Amino acid sequence: MARVYVLYTGGTIGCVTNAQGALAPVPGAAFEQRVLATPGLSGHGVAGYPGLSWTMGWFDRTLDSSNMTPSDWIAIARRLLSVYDQYDGFVVLHGTDTMAYSASALSFLLPGLSKPVVFGGSQVPLSFTLSDAPANLVGAIVVAGTLPVPEVCVYFDTKLLRGNRASKVDANRFAGFDSPNFPPLASVGSVVSRNEPYWLPMPGRDVSLAEPGNRARRQAALEAQVAAVSGFSVLMLWLYPGIRASSVSALLSGTSPAVAGVVLLAFGEGNGPTDPDFLDALSAAAKAGVVLMDNTQVQRGAVLPGAYATGLGAVGAVGAYDMTPEASYAKLVCLFASGLDPAAVKAAMPVPQAGELTVIEG
Ligand code: ASP
Repeated sequence: MARVYVLYTGGTIGCVTNAQGALAPVPGAAFEQRVLATPGLSGHGVAGYPGLSWTMGWFDRTLDSSNMTPSDWIAIARRLLSVYDQYDGFVVLHGTDTMAYSASALSFLLPGLSKPVVFGGSQVPLSFTLSDAPANLVGAIVVAGTLPVPEVCVYFDTKLLRGNRASKVDANRFAGFDSPNFPPLASVGSVVSRNEPYWLPMPGRDVSLAEPGNRARRQAALEAQVAAVSGFSVLMLWLYPGIRASSVSALLSGTSPAVAGVVLLAFGEGNGPTDPDFLDALSAAAKAGVVLMDNTQVQRGAVLPGAYATGLGAVGAVGAYDMTPEASYAKLVCLFASGLDPAAVKAAMPVPQAGELTVIEG
């Protein structure tokens, strides 16, 4: 017997065309009716999987994921935790646009996961005939109920990816997600191939969310983060040829609430211009306690901060190794929201917490 809790947050999967001809997600109760009419999912069971059942929950507001904020990440984490002991696996139905950010955040907000949390969605609504939604939906529920992978994942177009390694790589095609720096955790075909050597290990009892005491402590921590998360800003800054020091300074000093961290989407292996004014703007921020992350705007490969004279390690930016920009941003937000001071956040950023990066020695 396996019970799966499906949390519908919105996204294309739940969209219908509104009066203005644009796609907008329907409320939860209406979406559940559509899911119950999906082949294989009637009666809250899953055809061909005796003993597997699903229950659906939702929030009052359904969102296009372009409207999601870190507060929504915390709301998702709190909801999953509140029903954690009643289910064997979890599916979060979510818009694809910011799914990689939310999945990354959940991996940091729910340390000690002992059950799968599978993010899913689709490029085309469930209400449309030629859609990837039915296969993605059924697949996510089956994966969450049958694969004991103890981590936050993204299931899309037959691939199960580590959530904090995933990125949206195609705006239109059904193969919308990839994890360029990490192999899939499983893939679905006529057989399900499990890539178990790459799964995170089961958490020990001291941290496992299977333990009621750990769950209670985590709920309390998440409640504190709800208030904290609106008190600071984290920016993402894509570098480009000709970027002006004055633009960077304006952004860093003119943002309210004050900037606590910046994900720099640098060139190649983590490089940027050596214009002294540009570097001064960054190092002044770093000296004032702003945590700068040296990420790359290139999808595959890792930042090697010391490799070039143009490396941003020179201004005190932390090399992100092969962490995705989405994971870097979510990790900064979650660490600051947990109340750590800038020095502690800076120290924690390059250390893997949930399999989000690979440390490259040397
Ligand atoms: N705009 C939609 C969203 O992110 C796109 C999708 O779900 O595919 O909510």
